[in-house]
Amino acid sequence: MKATPLRSTGDYLGAIGRPGVCLAAVAMLLLVLAVGDATQTLPLPTTLATPLAALAALILLYALAITTAASRRRWEAAEQAQRQAQESRQQLIETIEAIPMGLGLYDRDGRLVLFNSRLAEVNPEIYTPDLIGLHYADIIERLVQWRPIERGDREEIRQLLTERFRVQAPGNVQATPDGRFIESNEIHTPSGYVATCRVDITALKRREQQLEASEARHRHVVESMLDAVFTTDAKGVSYVSPAAERVLGLAPEKIIGVSPIELFHPDDVPTIIQALRTARRNPDAIQALRIRAGGRVPTGHWLDLRFKTTGKPDANGHYQMIGVVRDIDAQVQMEQAQRDDMLKLRSIVESSGALIALVNSRQRIVLANRSFMEAVGKPLEHVIGQRYVDVVDCGADAMALAAWLAGGQHASFAFDQVLQSGGQRRVVRVSASHVHDDDRDINYSLFLGVDETDRRSAEVRALDAARLATLGEMATGIAHEINQPLTVVQFGVDALAADLEDGLHKDDPEGFAEDALRHVARVRNQAQRAAAIVRRLQGFARKGDDVAQPFDVTEAIAGAADLVSEQMRLARITVDLDLPAGLPQVHGHANRLQQVVINLLINARDAINEARAKDGGKIVQERVDIRARHDAADTTLVIEIGDSGPGIPEHVLPRLFESFFTTKPKGKGTGLGLSISSEILREMHGTISAANRPQGGALFRLSLPARAADLHAAA
Ligand code: ADP
Repeated sequence: MKATPLRSTGDYLGAIGRPGVCLAAVAMLLLVLAVGDATQTLPLPTTLATPLAALAALILLYALAITTAASRRRWEAAEQAQRQAQESRQQLIETIEAIPMGLGLYDRDGRLVLFNSRLAEVNPEIYTPDLIGLHYADIIERLVQWRPIERGDREEIRQLLTERFRVQAPGNVQATPDGRFIESNEIHTPSGYVATCRVDITALKRREQQLEASEARHRHVVESMLDAVFTTDAKGVSYVSPAAERVLGLAPEKIIGVSPIELFHPDDVPTIIQALRTARRNPDAIQALRIRAGGRVPTGHWLDLRFKTTGKPDANGHYQMIGVVRDIDAQVQMEQAQRDDMLKLRSIVESSGALIALVNSRQRIVLANRSFMEAVGKPLEHVIGQRYVDVVDCGADAMALAAWLAGGQHASFAFDQVLQSGGQRRVVRVSASHVHDDDRDINYSLFLGVDETDRRSAEVRALDAARLATLGEMATGIAHEINQPLTVVQFGVDALAADLEDGLHKDDPEGFAEDALRHVARVRNQAQRAAAIVRRLQGFARKGDDVAQPFDVTEAIAGAADLVSEQMRLARITVDLDLPAGLPQVHGHANRLQQVVINLLINARDAINEARAKDGGKIVQERVDIRARHDAADTTLVIEIGDSGPGIPEHVLPRLFESFFTTKPKGKGTGLGLSISSEILREMHGTISAANRPQGGALFRLSLPARAADLHAAA
């Protein structure tokens, strides 16, 4: 709506007073005419009483009334106008106060007419009430003086502010000494006024600064990445980070605007096109490709390209893309080298005759070679991913193996495994050891099985032969040993028969019955003793099994001592056994340990007899002490066999366990007893050593891993 132009007060007065003045003028004219006409004949007072004068007077009165009424109306109109003006001014002031910015108004002369409290808040020290009416040049001076700025800059700012008052300029932002940011605008109004506006944009500026800092951080991150980050638009690559030079072999400025397809190897273009299609169909899904560089710069380096669409498609259906390119050439080369190494390793693993299985830290088989598969007789899918103990029957060793796998304290673990392969029973010696990483954590456990069936059979045959030789040596003694109970039986039966023949029962049936029962009891006892000797003999002579078993040491030692007890008795040697109860079991073959004990007893007897022969056949009762003990942790069992013989000459000691070493006369000694004993102990993961006792006589010490410990070191 167009505003009505405001009229001046003079206009109003002219408009209102004009009819009254005209009427007064007419009345004055009539009065002059009346006076002029009557003065010639009548005296003046009479003249005034003429009709013309009366008319003039009436008109004058009317004019006076009109003028008075008009004056009142004018006065009322002026009052209303003043009220309206005040209201308008008040509204203007309120409006100016309500504006959310500092506002000041300068008149055409450049003097400050008003300013709102927000402007005062922006600069409370400058904008005080006495500023009203001041010229802008003075106000600028105050501003310049107030600002903590260099003298040279002051003049510059003075000119700048003055210029902004003269000519309208775009707003500028200034920081105040108290750290705020104020945007200033000087707006020149059409009526020649200048409105000065001040907006506190500190919060905005802070956000802007934060945004800039965050942008700078992001840019820094992107630009310091070893991977090249890029974006594309319809024209090609729109941004690429500096790493492009390293990754793609091209400076970023040479890539901008280029189609991404041109940056990669021609052979990989179909792959990229396919991925681009997929990316368009699946916005936001990340496409990952392994391709080669080699578009403009044919480096042929392997790259990992990951990208996705971003935003909305343009009018032509073009999506913007954002992506990362990583140089993975070294990684690919390494993978290739690893594959080659794996192939080599695989061929070694496959071609070795050993059974190989690799178990991971979760105790699952991750690798098994053909020999292993053939031995267990299961297809690969029933082996890989399974627990070793579920694939292979580990028998008595299963629990110990599980403890070893779980605990991992021991470096290695060995056990025998019996496998049925192609209808044949095979004995495999398995050594398991942990494979550690750099931090000494267990990554894998390697199970290496060696088929020992043939070696064990040969060994068993050798040991059997040796044992039979021992048996042969013991034959006289054993025959004597069995003869003894038989003799007693003979005597008992003869006595009973004689009593019957003599008819003793006739006169004294009760005494006869008592005697007869005593004879029968003795016969039974001796028959049982003979049976026990035969049983032990059978046990000792039994052909060995090639698989070790846990067995009771006390029983084995006592049985061995019993077998040669008669020979020792005849040789006037007391065998004293000190075998405490509760000895832990050991793992191996009972009759082989017996063979060792018998060898040691016979050697002691021979040494004692030899010494007696040298001594002129003087015979005193000698002794052999067999003691066994175990350590507190039940991990080792020690058996000591000491004799009261001449001891072992110093020069003999180092050669004692050599095969075929003997000091006995030809035909008597074979020199194999101690070497076989040593082999038996080694097989049981134990040791044998010899020394001389301080009081005289030889002392042999056997040390064996106790079964209670459940673990035994690998051979
Ligand atoms: P062989 O009994 O056939 O001689 P061994 O290997 O059993 O073979 O014994 C080797 C040698 O060790 C014996 O010839 C003997 O010299 C010595 N020897 C073994 N045991 C004793 C012992 N208790 N006291 C003294 N010497 C011993």
